[in-house]
Amino acid sequence: MFQNLSDRLQDVFKKLKGKGKLTESDIKEAMREVRIALLEADVNFQVVKDFINKVREKSVGQEILQSLTPGQQVIKIVRDELQELMGGTKSELVFKKTPGVVMLVGLQGAGKTTMAAKLALRYKKKNKKPLLVAADIYRPAAIKQLQVLGEQLGVEVFTMGDKNSPVDICKLGLEHAKKNGYDLVIFDTAGRLHIDERLMDELEGIVKVANPDEILLVVDAMTGQDAVNVAKSFNEKLDITGVILTKLDGDTRGGAALSIKAVTGKPIKLVGIGEKIEDLDVFHPDRMASRILGMGDVLTLIEKAEAAIDLEKAKDLQKKLQTQQFTLDDFVEQLQQIKQMGPLDQILGMLPGMGGGKLKGLSVDNKELVKIEAIISSMTKGERANPSIINGSRRKRIAAGSGTKIQDVNRLLKQFEQMQKMMKQFSSLEKSMKKGKKPF
Ligand code: GDP
Repeated sequence: MFQNLSDRLQDVFKKLKGKGKLTESDIKEAMREVRIALLEADVNFQVVKDFINKVREKSVGQEILQSLTPGQQVIKIVRDELQELMGGTKSELVFKKTPGVVMLVGLQGAGKTTMAAKLALRYKKKNKKPLLVAADIYRPAAIKQLQVLGEQLGVEVFTMGDKNSPVDICKLGLEHAKKNGYDLVIFDTAGRLHIDERLMDELEGIVKVANPDEILLVVDAMTGQDAVNVAKSFNEKLDITGVILTKLDGDTRGGAALSIKAVTGKPIKLVGIGEKIEDLDVFHPDRMASRILGMGDVLTLIEKAEAAIDLEKAKDLQKKLQTQQFTLDDFVEQLQQIKQMGPLDQILGMLPGMGGGKLKGLSVDNKELVKIEAIISSMTKGERANPSIINGSRRKRIAAGSGTKIQDVNRLLKQFEQMQKMMKQFSSLEKSMKKGKKPF
């Protein structure tokens, strides 16, 4: 996500940090580079201009230039301004009545139908009873797609086929929800390839009959400035309440995320970060700003870990580490928990200093994890508990059983041995620290 922009900005700031004292011309030069980086990331021209002016004004103040760490302070100013640019603080969905009504709008292919399902899942997990309403009667298979997703989630889908008008479908869908005790209704409306008057009129018709709490425009982050233009048009016509940016998991340059709030005045509320129905996040401008500047996003990482990791198991593991009983079974369990947190490169990208291009050289292949799991599950219980008994013929059998090569099995056993050694050192270090000894 935003890799180029992130790399570029980090390069600019490395230079600033390297200097003990900064002059106005250092700042000018840095701002010139930031400006180019933002424009290349497809950020709206006027937005870039205002942004640079604000940062420059704040940076050339006497206290900053004469402080002990002027470079750091300029970076902080940029970070704070980036956060402001993206809306300052996170914006929640607000429902003023029951059932709450969310209307998703946007061009074809932006990710509305997928997002409708993601939202339904999100609220189902919060013990709400959502109803999905299939109002996209034009795209072939849109209704079917929503029905399949609904079935997968165990969420009802209200449909009237493609012969009724979307306005009627939404009206009756809402009535159905009221009669049947749903607390949230999600309209999946039709898109077009381009904005056209008829579509807008139809969407206005739905707004009139359903009075949605949230009119959320779904835009594809990969389309950069086009997404911003689309947002502008939809907002002028429908007065949207917020934006959902999808496909942020792709190689997006950042232009949409950084321009939408400034251009439309409407916040980005949620983001789609993958094709799976769990791949939905709240948009946190502060965390995003830190991520762009390579400062990591430890808060999101902790939240993901809390959601994926079983606390009881974690305690159990700690005990095992202390008593040095860490086995291959524990190893595979650890891998499974890490996998639940999401793709490994996404997780590592949230660590400070690990974002951007620095990950490229690192082998963080999820396929590798699958292989390791296959190898370990081809071992007998005895082998997993005591890997030292795994001799040549056993290695051959395990490789054949897991569809891997003997070298793969060897490598895994070696890695495990190293990890055990490391853990032994770690636990003796921990013990001596507990006794108050200095480790070094
Ligand atoms: P709609 O026409 O607006 O309803 O769009 P769809 O929901 O059918 O999505 C269009 C395509 O984008 C599908 O192939 C989705 O799987 C994909 N998609 C949607 N959201 C995301 C996302 O956050 N990340 C990625 N990588 N793909 C997405």
